[in-house]
Amino acid sequence: MGQIRISAKDLGGLALPNFCPRCFWVRMHCANKLPFQIFPGIFSSIDSYTKKITSVHFARYNRLPLWLSKLGNLGKPVKVPHYSQFRIVDQNTDILLWGMPDEIFQREDGSYFIIDYKTAKFTQTQDRLLPMYEVQLNGYAYIGRRQGFHPISGIGLVYMQPQTDLTQDELDLFLKEDGFLMSFAGHVLSLKLEAEQRIPPLLQKVRSIVDLASPPPGNQDCSDCKLLDQLIQMMKG
Ligand code: SF4
Repeated sequence: MGQIRISAKDLGGLALPNFCPRCFWVRMHCANKLPFQIFPGIFSSIDSYTKKITSVHFARYNRLPLWLSKLGNLGKPVKVPHYSQFRIVDQNTDILLWGMPDEIFQREDGSYFIIDYKTAKFTQTQDRLLPMYEVQLNGYAYIGRRQGFHPISGIGLVYMQPQTDLTQDELDLFLKEDGFLMSFAGHVLSLKLEAEQRIPPLLQKVRSIVDLASPPPGNQDCSDCKLLDQLIQMMKG
């Protein structure tokens, strides 16, 4: 295959314990357009609203919202390049790595801090996805450094956790004539910045899997491929 295009988030999939090289090979050979993939738009709407809250808060108070303060003094938001610009081509592997961080902040010392919002409660499920997010954010740092966001002093996640408890006393606070309000509580998580160590080997791994002439074996304990085998056997029988 010629040049490979991959997002920092998809690159993060290679770091998950249940990563399947077979599924990955198929996805990459279908230009990442698999059937039955429906992603509800509500999460990107909430991410976009969170970014508006941060930016409007900074415009009004000249400081970031308090729930970001656990990451230290992040300074001011700077313009995040569109994903059509926030990309690099790795010359060793001819892989185009792209992405679009939710926020880039510039601290008073001139360094940059990159964050991504996740609309979710920080639970064990989210914890299991952490290896993917670590690579995603390090991928952004890898691209950012090569695009002039230098030095980068930190990366982190901000979980915007929907507050779903409700008592009768609170009801009137959230009721509107045409619907209701729901609040979100920020939970921040600083991640280890190790872009230069982690990203190049993963790009090499992508190239080595995608260049295989046929799909490699899948995960032994994945039930989906077993179901597919059963279906094929039924059709043959
Ligand atoms: S083993 Fe599972 S994850 Fe791998 S290709 Fe088959 S369905 Fe996909």
